[in-house]
Amino acid sequence: MTAELIDGTAVARLVREDVAKGVAELVAAGGTPPGLATVLIGDDPASEVYVRNKRRLCVTAGMADLHRHLPGDVDQDTAAALVDELAADPAVSGILLQLPTPAHLDSEALLARIPAAKDVDGLTVANAGLLAQGRPGLRPCTPSGVIELLDRYDVPLSGVEAVVVGRSVLVGKPMAQLLLERNATVTICHSRTRDLAEVCRRADVLVVAAGIPGLVGADGVKPGATVIDVGIHRGEDGLHGDVDTAAVAEVAGRITPVPGGVGPMTIAMLLANTLTAAIAQQGLGG
Ligand code: ADP
Repeated sequence: MTAELIDGTAVARLVREDVAKGVAELVAAGGTPPGLATVLIGDDPASEVYVRNKRRLCVTAGMADLHRHLPGDVDQDTAAALVDELAADPAVSGILLQLPTPAHLDSEALLARIPAAKDVDGLTVANAGLLAQGRPGLRPCTPSGVIELLDRYDVPLSGVEAVVVGRSVLVGKPMAQLLLERNATVTICHSRTRDLAEVCRRADVLVVAAGIPGLVGADGVKPGATVIDVGIHRGEDGLHGDVDTAAVAEVAGRITPVPGGVGPMTIAMLLANTLTAAIAQQGLGG
């Protein structure tokens, strides 16, 4: 392997340490510790693991864990009432509705009740609109984690060719907008893109978030490029990404491993957003 590995586990730890410092400063300045309300509906095992990790790291960073759990058969009105209660509670700095919610619920309607100022996942229409217009707001955690990784590894973005594979609301679309905000020349690929490998080969920075194991191979990577793999797939022999890591690592300049790349950054950025939200709500400089 010739590519440098981008260590998301280490960078996420640094980000969490910065957040913990920021929390301590907020409290020292007379503020109250930020509170994160994770909302889990039902008992999906994967969601339970994600929420448990978010709660644990939130406490480690000095924030209040204001977790709420609703049964999987809860009705829309009850779930909506909980979101409204958290929205009105001054102890709650951030609300995170763990997705996916059970199929009988309208998750978009629930998300819409989260005030933009408490939308620490950055998924509401209001925050998506602010991002689209290049105005300040809470940014989605996974793509902002990718930017943080690129910055901490001093990967230049201004003027470079950036290719994003995937156009989801959660990752691809905001990722492209964040790269555009940093003055990259951005191309977005999706399931209808003709000759994906050819387009990907233009990239100085390639971000792959298509949800397809091994979609990008060595023929889709320019020598020396920085490759960020957002995919996570559980196989019989462990976790894999959307990139054929072993093959691409022979061509790329830098690459994120799976696991240990983008994954740990998502929670770190959630904590960073929760601190940002708390500082804004409490009106104290951070
Ligand atoms: P995520 O969890 O990263 O948000 P989703 O599974 O929600 O991913 O969305 C997958 C995205 O990947 C979609 O935007 C889709 O257009 C894109 N995509 C799917 N198949 C391909 C493909 N063969 N080539 C490029 N992009 C693809």
